[in-house]
Amino acid sequence: MTHPFRRKWGQNFLRDPNYIRKILTELNPQPEDTVLEIGPGDGALTFALAPLVSTIHAVEIDPLLVKQLKRTAPKNIHVIEEDILNFDLDSLTGDFLILGNLPYYLTTPIIFKVINNDRWARAVLMVQQEVGARITSPPGNRIYGRLSVMVQTYTAVNSHFKVPSTVFQPKPKVDSVVISLRPRSNHISNREYHHDIVKLAFSQRRKKLKNTLGDHLNPGLLEIYGDQRPEQLSADDFMVISENNPVG
Ligand code: SAM
Repeated sequence: MTHPFRRKWGQNFLRDPNYIRKILTELNPQPEDTVLEIGPGDGALTFALAPLVSTIHAVEIDPLLVKQLKRTAPKNIHVIEEDILNFDLDSLTGDFLILGNLPYYLTTPIIFKVINNDRWARAVLMVQQEVGARITSPPGNRIYGRLSVMVQTYTAVNSHFKVPSTVFQPKPKVDSVVISLRPRSNHISNREYHHDIVKLAFSQRRKKLKNTLGDHLNPGLLEIYGDQRPEQLSADDFMVISENNPVG
């Protein structure tokens, strides 16, 4: 059935069975697994995944696609019409996997939502190549920034393979990449404070940290990090700073 493509919802549907297979292989689904799929679209990944797992919760914002999916989906696909940013991840019981060919316009907010929850066991996401490079970048790199630090703080992230723009309909302007995330078992006492520190440091990325984070570094840490710039610090360095807040 034909469906009007809605650019405002970042609709680029995957059309190549080889890439669908490769993405699902990366997810490595088991028969007992529950999967949350973000933006199932017209079901390219969803229908291929359904026979391999116990349950799929597929959250889609477009009412037309929801209607189409509900009509055709096998019983283990639970189609939910909702904006993923409003969807309560804690409404899912037990562990779950996350799968998503993410809508471009919402990639960063969705990733922030995902990393703020640690109930999922593994996430396989397709993102624009440039965003994937930023997420996985090591320190000391021009593209290393707030997104890299935040994702690498809460997850272990890997980049797998490129997906050319030609395998989508309609064809997007840029290529994509498939990445996977696993929650890290870090303890961050104050997530909000940690986030504020990282944001503050990168708000003036050419400045040395003694100038941006001066008030947040105790004398020992000022000695270590004061003359460095934010892009030189790893996610773990930022954790050390936020766990040693001099003002308590
Ligand atoms: N999974 C399908 C595929 O691979 O062919 C579609 C991927 S398409 C890049 C992104 C999908 O996310 C679209 O179906 C779009 O309607 C949906 N979407 C966009 N914004 C959304 C939101 N805020 N919440 C849930 N789904 C959304």
